[in-house]
Amino acid sequence: MATDNSVYRLLPAGVVAPRSAEDVAILLKVLEEGPFRHLSITARGGGTGTNGQSLNTGIIVDFRRYMNRIVKFDFAGQWVEVEPGIVLDDLNERLAGTGLFFAPNTSTANRCTIGGMVSTDASGKGSRVYGKTSDNVLGLEMMLGGGRRLDSDRTDAGRSFLDAVAAACDEGLPGLLERLPRLSRRFTGYDVERARPSHDRIEWWRLPIGAEGTLGLVTRVRLKLLRKPSRHRLLLLAFDRFSDVLSATSALLRADPTAIEVIDDWVQQRAAKAGLLDDLPKQIRGDTDHHRVIAFVEFSGDDDVGLGAKDDACRGIAAGLQGYKASYSTTDPGQIAQLWSIRSACVGLLGAVEGSRKPISFVEDCVVPPENLAAFVADFTALLASHGVPFGIYGHADVGCLHTRPALDIHSERDRALYKEISDAVFQLATRHGGIFWGEHGKGIRGEYLEAFVGEDAYRAFRRIKAAFDPHNRFNPAKLVTLGETHLTVGGTTMRPAPPAAADAFSRAYACNGNAVCLNYDAKAAMCPSFKISGDVKHSPKGRAEAITSWHSALGRGDATPAMEEAVRDALDGCLGCKACASGCPTHIDIPELKSAFLSRYHSTRPRPLADRMTMFLEAAAPALARYRSLVRPLSNSSLLRVASLKSGIVAPPKVSAGLSSFGLGALSSGDASRRRWNDKTVFLVQDAFTALFDVPAVAATARGLELMGYEPVVIEALAGGKAAHVKGDRPRFMAQAKRLAAELRRLEATGRPLIGTDPSQVHFIRHDYPRIGLDDLPKIWSVEEFLASQLRGGRPFRNAAAGGTSATIFLHCTEQAMRPGTRADWEAVFAAIDIKVTVAQTGCCGMAGTFGHERRHQEWSKSLFSLSWASRVASASKVCATGFSCRCQVERCSPRTAIHPMRLLADAFENDPD
Ligand SMILES: Cc1cc2nc3c(=O)[nH]c(=O)nc-3n(C[C@H](O)[C@H](O)[C@H](O)COP(=O)(O)OP(=O)(O)OC[C@H]3O[C@@H](n4cnc5c(N)ncnc54)[C@H](O)[C@@H]3O)c2cc1C
Repeated sequence: MATDNSVYRLLPAGVVAPRSAEDVAILLKVLEEGPFRHLSITARGGGTGTNGQSLNTGIIVDFRRYMNRIVKFDFAGQWVEVEPGIVLDDLNERLAGTGLFFAPNTSTANRCTIGGMVSTDASGKGSRVYGKTSDNVLGLEMMLGGGRRLDSDRTDAGRSFLDAVAAACDEGLPGLLERLPRLSRRFTGYDVERARPSHDRIEWWRLPIGAEGTLGLVTRVRLKLLRKPSRHRLLLLAFDRFSDVLSATSALLRADPTAIEVIDDWVQQRAAKAGLLDDLPKQIRGDTDHHRVIAFVEFSGDDDVGLGAKDDACRGIAAGLQGYKASYSTTDPGQIAQLWSIRSACVGLLGAVEGSRKPISFVEDCVVPPENLAAFVADFTALLASHGVPFGIYGHADVGCLHTRPALDIHSERDRALYKEISDAVFQLATRHGGIFWGEHGKGIRGEYLEAFVGEDAYRAFRRIKAAFDPHNRFNPAKLVTLGETHLTVGGTTMRPAPPAAADAFSRAYACNGNAVCLNYDAKAAMCPSFKISGDVKHSPKGRAEAITSWHSALGRGDATPAMEEAVRDALDGCLGCKACASGCPTHIDIPELKSAFLSRYHSTRPRPLADRMTMFLEAAAPALARYRSLVRPLSNSSLLRVASLKSGIVAPPKVSAGLSSFGLGALSSGDASRRRWNDKTVFLVQDAFTALFDVPAVAATARGLELMGYEPVVIEALAGGKAAHVKGDRPRFMAQAKRLAAELRRLEATGRPLIGTDPSQVHFIRHDYPRIGLDDLPKIWSVEEFLASQLRGGRPFRNAAAGGTSATIFLHCTEQAMRPGTRADWEAVFAAIDIKVTVAQTGCCGMAGTFGHERRHQEWSKSLFSLSWASRVASASKVCATGFSCRCQVERCSPRTAIHPMRLLADAFENDPD
């Protein structure tokens, strides 16, 4: 709660998450009491602000956590009333069946809240047609100091309050209008123009829109809904240079598109490097040494013919413009979504820039009239070039709003001075080009420039408005409009702590830039199961990174306390290790890796819990135990062992399964395997320790499936890979085990035959975590579907199996969803090729994740996670297949169903095939 997507860091005194408007009223009453009167009150939604909007030192009111319900919905009237903490995508998903939607769109739609959008007057793609949030709000309820409630539906706001606000609007309006450029991205916060539609009317509720919580706490909002267009068309226009695209914008607008979005050469090159442009037609991409620059032009509506005509008109206009090279148009919804994902990836691409200078937000949303765009960008980029500052640009060209993120090292004195200098200069530049400094993201600390922009008279009126709503200056003070206190300033506000040297195990935690991608609300998305189930930022990658940097920088200063260390352990304990953060976060904050490093340090002075020692022992001993299975198996099922497990905090441990011999299979050591000669059908199945002990049926199914598809699988004896030691933070043990397994893999590599893993978590652990300890020259270890799909793409024919006879749902392991998004398509391709109908379920984590779900202290979260996105899909599936061993265990214990490995489905289909 101390950070957002800006460079600033303000530590609050406390955080309160109300469950209802009544709670908010109680909170505000309590905060009137003597001991709390000095505390400021600042609302927080998703915390995705780019300029410290939701940061302050007093009490933070977290609306996102509980106040996220739909209160009323009126289909005929096309409106919905919501609590402010509801996330934009969540709202639109809940409205999906109605054909209506809330139109203002942000790139942060899966994590920003309606309260935050209202308070910053957010907008994004499509705003030229749909307007900003302020154009789509019909009314609201808010609370002022002491819990006083104001409701736009009621007439009891009080005469003196209304008179004071009306008089202030009248005073400020003429001066403001004199200064304001007439842009589609109009000025809000405080919008005295709309609040005073005529001399006898005052619409006070227009004022908190865009006011960034400086007037009070919004507790309910009525939103206008629009009919969702049923047809979309995306036209890509390739130009020679970025300046050509910018100059083209005004002319292209004549074709009346819903949006024109652009990315500059720098961003485009990064996108190309990341492989995002690979699927684009060559005429759009250009050559490797000369990329073309793309404008994304979208047309939306319900009339195909009309949209086609607009598309044609747009191409015709483009063809006559300077630098125009080529066009490509599509109406395929899947391809449109995929192409837009290139544009959406921009912030991430910039966030992932290596080195100490990082692209940061502080001058990132200037708006100028589209006809001035090219000239403004030329001046802006010249300014940055004169300081030798690299930058990336992307944004909404149709409304003249470009996002420019200069790359600076805010921890160097020189760059901090530049930060302020560039900020001042860009404010002047935007104003000079007839534009506005804060076109989309709100003001936050940049509210420092408000008085200079609106002029003395309007600012004096703003002060009177602030005093009428918030006479004691409690709400988000020192921002936007001050009442005598010093304004927080761009150059003077505390910034995030400087990272230690890159070699420090905790340095990566400092890379978190608060973009909040990890605060994803969607139960079906892989990103951060522990945040999803707790709703508590502390249990998100952002919260964990924040906890680590707070403790670690205190350590550097010499004032870290044992309590801080316990707090960090507490924050990390709920991490399930899915790695969605390592892959999905633009800055690749790898919490499982940081947790491993932290626990290693933590347990260097404290004993390890028995359960952790048992888990690590089990992995190390699994290969030997598997060999003496007939002796171990009865013991593993004995009630004595179950009681002992329970005593150590382990719940429902898995049972030792039947061995390979029961399936007519044997295993070779890697040494033996490497000494023999193999043919070109041989594939090695590299067993992981846990599957080899507890789930040999899955190994056998994989072997059988491969065999039936014409391969000759050879099962390799299991060896501990160090997964448990990594999770529990025993680094020396992890490294020793990883080195041994790496040596065996290299030995197998010498045979030239493919190596296929038996569990997704093992495959991705070896691929991702081994290189981090220097084991980066290993042979590829395939997952089975990845291997088969690549064979298919290579032209290998697959014969049909029991055509049309089987249908099933495949559930993926969260780690493979996170680390290899292609997994889904590969399973689909493999089963389609053999004519078996499968659906790959879109789910989050099942809640088991290795040992997590077996640990007593995690039972509630583990089971709730299963209920969140798995339970109903499992219940309705005709056949349940799960790729992960732990996922199969979780299905077994949380539902009456049994999950099989997808290769069992495949093998059964072939075996039942009369051919
Ligand atoms: C990568 C990235 C991309 C972005 N893209 C866009 C974009 O396309 N378009 C866009 O407009 N913005 C964009 N933003 C900025 C940001 O997402 C928006 O400003 C968003 O509306 C903020 O919503 P939030 O819920 O995160 O609010 P927060 O950041 O939590 O808060 C924003 C402000 O609203 C106030 N507030 C929140 N809730 C209430 C309440 N209930 N009552 C009173 N005040 C309240 C807070 O005090 C704060 O001042 C982007 C940000 C990032 C990091």
